[in-house]
Amino acid sequence: MVTDLAEIAKLDEAKQLENEHFYYFLKGWNPKRLDQHVHQLYKEVSDAIDCRACGNCCRSFHVQVEASDIEPLADRLGISSDDVQNNFLKQNAEGWQVSQSPCHFLNGNECTVYEQRFTDCRSFPHLDKPHFQGRLLTVFITYSQCPIVFNVIEQLKEKLGFNNF
Ligand code: SF4
Ligand code: SF4
Repeated sequence: MVTDLAEIAKLDEAKQLENEHFYYFLKGWNPKRLDQHVHQLYKEVSDAIDCRACGNCCRSFHVQVEASDIEPLADRLGISSDDVQNNFLKQNAEGWQVSQSPCHFLNGNECTVYEQRFTDCRSFPHLDKPHFQGRLLTVFITYSQCPIVFNVIEQLKEKLGFNNF
């Protein structure tokens, strides 16, 4: 299992063409069968990786925020929902988004509002959801940033018998 982010960045560079081929290889799979493989690997890999030693998603991405996420966070911080929106969020075409990356609430590698973190934070990197095949572009964007995604993809190559040549 590779968890060092610098090593993952190097491997990402080296595997660009291979991953392009793997992307099209995955497009040819039965979507439901593929989901089963990914869900199984996600469980194994996420059990073996400690997110508290990483925190890179909180440093690298702008989290999408659901309207229902705002009030619990406001209560936790002892401020109004308007203050949460004004101080920590911005609006885009899809709704609310955390305005800063790294996230305001990250301290070291740890989330300071863990119990009230956003729905998107709870489900990242989304590999336990259905329709993996339909989200492949996003998966390959996060491959170089998230050790869980990186290791799931690398193990998936072996599991599916992917041969780059
Ligand atoms: S709210 Fe917490 S888990 Fe979500 S991005 Fe910010 S620091 Fe990370
Ligand atoms: S989900 Fe991925 S990027 Fe985020 S903390 Fe866990 S291993 Fe790191």
